[in-house]
Amino acid sequence: MAPVPHYLMYIDGEWVDRIERYDVINPATEEVVATVAKGSTDDADRAVAAALRAHRDGEWRNTSPDERARKISRMVEILNDRMDDLVDLHIAENGVTRRQAMAFHVGYSISHLQYFADLAATYQFERSGPVLGYPTAAAGVVRREPIGVVAGIVPWNFPMLLAVWKLGPALAAGNCVVLKPDEKTPMTLMEIAKAADEAEIPKGVFNVVIGPGETVGARLAAHPDVRKVAFTGSTAVGKTISKLAAENIKKVTLELGGKGPNIVLEDADITQAVDGALFAFCLYSGQACESGTRLLLPESRYDEFVERLIERAAKIRVGDPDDFETDMGPIISAEQKQRIERYIELGKKEGATVAFGGEPLSGAPFDKGHWIGPTILTDVDNSMTVAQEEIFGPVLAVIKYRTVYEAIAIANDSEYGLSAGVWSEDIDAALAVANQIEAGTVWINDWHMVNALYPFGGYKQSGNGRELGPHALDEYTEEKFVHIDLSRKLDNKVYDLVVPRVED
Ligand code: NAD
Repeated sequence: MAPVPHYLMYIDGEWVDRIERYDVINPATEEVVATVAKGSTDDADRAVAAALRAHRDGEWRNTSPDERARKISRMVEILNDRMDDLVDLHIAENGVTRRQAMAFHVGYSISHLQYFADLAATYQFERSGPVLGYPTAAAGVVRREPIGVVAGIVPWNFPMLLAVWKLGPALAAGNCVVLKPDEKTPMTLMEIAKAADEAEIPKGVFNVVIGPGETVGARLAAHPDVRKVAFTGSTAVGKTISKLAAENIKKVTLELGGKGPNIVLEDADITQAVDGALFAFCLYSGQACESGTRLLLPESRYDEFVERLIERAAKIRVGDPDDFETDMGPIISAEQKQRIERYIELGKKEGATVAFGGEPLSGAPFDKGHWIGPTILTDVDNSMTVAQEEIFGPVLAVIKYRTVYEAIAIANDSEYGLSAGVWSEDIDAALAVANQIEAGTVWINDWHMVNALYPFGGYKQSGNGRELGPHALDEYTEEKFVHIDLSRKLDNKVYDLVVPRVED
């Protein structure tokens, strides 16, 4: 058997190996597809020290925004040339299907990085304010300056995209960055590091350390020289990171869990709403934070919708993610699969009916790897655990409502507020509902349409701050006001409140 590739960390412009290694496991086959150097808290410290030195040297932050845009665009070109490899690496490390990897995991990653390159060139880093007359003539300039060392902690579900959402704005704004991928999915992020190296991003400006979240990740979140931490992952870890970051008042952006309510209004087109509901909870086997996992159906159309949902769910082809025809691939790990199964059992115990799926899949390719097909739970009450907690798998909780007011109340009866959807032929009616929903994104007659031009983030325990959109760089900059006295005269100043006037 050919030896598997070995990946190194990237610290201060050098490729760094360690004796301890991780195996990267293909979730569909359980084969070892690569090994990777296992870093420690010392490596986190080294990476932060390199980033701080690069920040203080000032080469990157003093580079013109146009030049930063050019360098990031060069990374985009390099990644574009390796698109096929990046798709293969995603399939191997996180089990996403080929078509989804092409469109979302890799396609979005590259186009979003280009968005941040363009934003570097167009963002208003400096603006002049009004000239004031009192107490003396003065002008003001407001500058947006890089924060310093930014740490980004990234999960396994969209390892490249969610790294780009942190790296892109951080570099565009002139910061120095340390990223930590999830231990299960380091390969695609290391390809970004290679692209940064080839694009001649200066030494120390971009670093990647690999290691356990509880040690290496926690060290980055607590490090006194890190001034901002950007995290995507579970709400539980988000809370830990917030507490660690509070120690030196770091700036924090958090993209956490979700329990997206998908509201079908009475007049909705059944064909569109049903396929939309499946897309909402089955993309990447439901392992996406913005999934639509609670389907709210009007009592009058409940039976009709559930019947059609089951009929269409049965058409979804679960299997080898490498096969172009496959619609749904495996679950990331055995642990995650067991967690999902526990939720399905709990749902049954609490009174839900498994209307579709929920059974182990058998035969090839399911004799290896971790698999759960689309699972539809009906007779769900919103107070049940399966309607309140994030399952992070292809499990849909179907809930009946009587009035639109009740649907809105159910939708908002959640600690989460990341995404929501409304299906209706009447856009005014759908908008009226969307405006009442406590969520950072509401899709009308659609789902998963995350767009780099628009902000993405959560209400309530789904997070803090926003990624993407024209204001994304606000989250990666400090705002500075520079006051310029224009009068050059002491007479009119208010200094004499404290300092005795100079006698003639
Ligand atoms: P996680 O939150 O544990 O891990 C995400 C990242 O945080 C990884 O890089 C991990 O190494 C790091 N990390 C873990 N503990 C840390 C700590 N104490 N300090 C600093 N960094 C730490 O996510 P997971 O274990 O991969 O999945 C658990 C659950 O999280 C899932 O079931 C799902 O509900 C949720 N999740 C959500 C998202 C999302 O996009 N919102 C993504 C992945 C997982």
